[in-house]
Amino acid sequence: MARIVVKFGGTSVAGIPQIENAAAKVAAEIARGHQVAVVVSAMSGVTNQLIEYCREISPLHDAREYDAVVASGENVTSGLMALALQKRGIQARSWQGWQIPILCSDVHGKARILEIDGTEIARRMDNDNEVAVIAGFQGVTSRQRVTTLGRGGSDTTAVALAAALQAERCDIYTDVNGVYTADPRIVQHARKLKKISYEEMYELASSGSKVLMTRSVEMAMKMNVPVQVLSTFEEPIGSDYPGTLVTRDEDIVEQEVVNGVAHSKDEAKVTLVKVPDIPGIAAGVFGPLAEANINVDMIVQNVSQDGKTDMTFTVSKAELQRAMQVLKNEPRLAGIEIRFDEDVAKISVVGIGMKSHAGVAQTMFTALAERGINIQVISTSEIKISVLIAAEYTELAVRALHAAYGLEGDRKLA
Ligand code: ADP
Ligand code: ASP
Ligand code: MG
Repeated sequence: MARIVVKFGGTSVAGIPQIENAAAKVAAEIARGHQVAVVVSAMSGVTNQLIEYCREISPLHDAREYDAVVASGENVTSGLMALALQKRGIQARSWQGWQIPILCSDVHGKARILEIDGTEIARRMDNDNEVAVIAGFQGVTSRQRVTTLGRGGSDTTAVALAAALQAERCDIYTDVNGVYTADPRIVQHARKLKKISYEEMYELASSGSKVLMTRSVEMAMKMNVPVQVLSTFEEPIGSDYPGTLVTRDEDIVEQEVVNGVAHSKDEAKVTLVKVPDIPGIAAGVFGPLAEANINVDMIVQNVSQDGKTDMTFTVSKAELQRAMQVLKNEPRLAGIEIRFDEDVAKISVVGIGMKSHAGVAQTMFTALAERGINIQVISTSEIKISVLIAAEYTELAVRALHAAYGLEGDRKLA
């Protein structure tokens, strides 16, 4: 008998009919002889609404109270899912993060899971056939405060729970039937991947493919949890894995140069204008930002002219206000003009094959140039190239790159 963790995202539990439909999926897994634990998100739109309430009261709100508010969406759906399962004659019980407990770091709003004690849930599974329904996205700190994991965090709850319960697989049920070569809502001819490596999925997720939260992929890779992305609204047809399996790259026979295009409109560009080109400036910028737990993504510093240079980097839009505040309060940056631009998008191409192929970047730059799209910042890793462009060209750029790498239909090498 296999033990699996299944997770339902916001649209999959958007209302009572959807919750009942999700409960039927759980019942089907149980009927196949599996032991199942369920993780649920808040009903779609609810987390946004809760965040908006906090912002309305104060844009720079107390992070502990923010967590207390936004964690509540998942409390509702975990209870409702337990009821829906009970209605089907399945013994089910809801669990909030603190009840398990899911112990988290105290970085409120984007906490990390430190430890999950799965003993009681596993005991009830084994002894009573009880299905645990866990509120995703939330945990508790060592100081007994409720905390949340960041947007999309229920994916991470599910993978962490799968690791804690030594589950055979973690199924992520969502509103698309797998991971595609690009967001299928933007690229009509995007192709569904049968399998994708953890490494590539990690880069796609961290570049904005929100089908899986980045940290959930990181954790799956570290703990070796096979993850499947599949649709809540389609019936699986004749396959053990109807969706996309995220797995080790040794398990993937066909390696492509580029496997996906991702975009993100969640970042903002910050520029420090004409900073003195002397040692210590970068430390003065990035030190205080790191202390404030603000992640910096792309960084570019221009060649200095007359001993002055512009320094540009990106932070998430959600943290822009805080970042600006931190930089303005930094004595080492006194008198320096700091500009920001929120109308930007980051477009990335990802593929393991890049490690061994030349010319991948050139294909990207040419495709963008042909459409008159200006590149503001470039960054690369071993298997990813990202560019920052004006937000208005996002869709055009994603489609152009998807075509340039031959991701639709028959593939060609870059
Ligand atoms: P859930 O609420 O179930 O967690 P999300 O909205 O977080 O769902 O993630 C699913 C969405 O991810 C899809 O609706 C799709 O628009 C988007 N998405 C972005 N990139 C991709 C991709 N490469 N493949 C599949 N879906 C993607
Ligand atoms: N409800 C949370 C969010 O919208 C967590 C999740 O859905 O994964 O970000
Ligand atoms: Mg999600």
